[in-house]
Amino acid sequence: MAHSTVLGFAARATGQPLEPINYAPPKLGEHDVRVSITHCGVCYTDIQGIEDHYGISTYPFVPGHEIVGTVSALGPAVSGLKEGDRVGIGWQGRSCMQCEWCLRGEEQLCQDIDNCATWKPYGGFSSSVVVDSRFAYPLPTVMSSEVAAVLMCAGISVYTPLRSYAAGGSQKVGIIGVGGLGHLAIQFAHALGCEVTAISSSPGKKEQALKFGADHFIIAEDQARMRQVRFSFDLMLYTSHGKGDWTSLVNSLKTNGRLVIIGFSDGPVTFDPLELVVHQMSITGSFIGNRATMREMLMFAQNHGITPETELMPMAQVNEAIRKVKENKARYRIVLFNDTTGAGA
Ligand SMILES: [Zn+2]
Ligand SMILES: [Zn+2]
Repeated sequence: MAHSTVLGFAARATGQPLEPINYAPPKLGEHDVRVSITHCGVCYTDIQGIEDHYGISTYPFVPGHEIVGTVSALGPAVSGLKEGDRVGIGWQGRSCMQCEWCLRGEEQLCQDIDNCATWKPYGGFSSSVVVDSRFAYPLPTVMSSEVAAVLMCAGISVYTPLRSYAAGGSQKVGIIGVGGLGHLAIQFAHALGCEVTAISSSPGKKEQALKFGADHFIIAEDQARMRQVRFSFDLMLYTSHGKGDWTSLVNSLKTNGRLVIIGFSDGPVTFDPLELVVHQMSITGSFIGNRATMREMLMFAQNHGITPETELMPMAQVNEAIRKVKENKARYRIVLFNDTTGAGA
């Protein structure tokens, strides 16, 4: 396996559909592991990566960063993992380990973050991937691979801000967007003991949002209903990538409340600063999570039965999967599996 070529699905240029390519397996650095991929979730960030939304994509570009697979080769300095171990890998596949943020254990804030993506040089829509072993996480044995895959990016992205700002429980939390991130955020917030309101543009998602653990459901465009929740929320998580009505969202925060942006909004964020100043509200971003939080999140998910809704598709159907995500038809996360490994059956 280690010496054969790798089969990946790549965009050859910005915005192009993915096509199968064979490439030489990247060399193992001393701390690296090679992981044979069984599963990989499709995150909206992959699509933005294909379109070079962040200006850091290189082509051919193999997306994919919600990976589960088994360790197939190890660099000489790897400890704590062995061949055959099942691991999960998220957006971050390495870090500089030397900057001020890495030294603080906040590797997700690494100053060299542009070069830390798991998809550099090739991501998880592939037969194997090479990452720094310190970013390959052993998985609870009873956790299914498709569940673990989704937790590696969507899970950590929502768990980190909830843990930072709502871990005391009994807080009122608003989750904006009930998609791949949002449906997990509802579950985590509910498990943390918060009173959860799901805010979505899709009336059809009400029943499921309540099933995921939301106490209330609001249609984002329902101005009258949004006015009723003025000054309601201690914490709001913006998990969508669409354009939001930022003024009405900010106005829903309590004094000293906090709006955390997790999804990469497509449009500019505009709001009237008056309410923000007078009620001391905060708007902040949150990016994935550090290694310690990743391990904690996996245990928390295991112990509380956090279960992403997944739809399995063979990796060869990656373009079809991307189309469904773009058209907002994924319910709620598509996970690709590699037929060749016998997984996903
Ligand atoms: Zn992601
Ligand atoms: Zn660093």
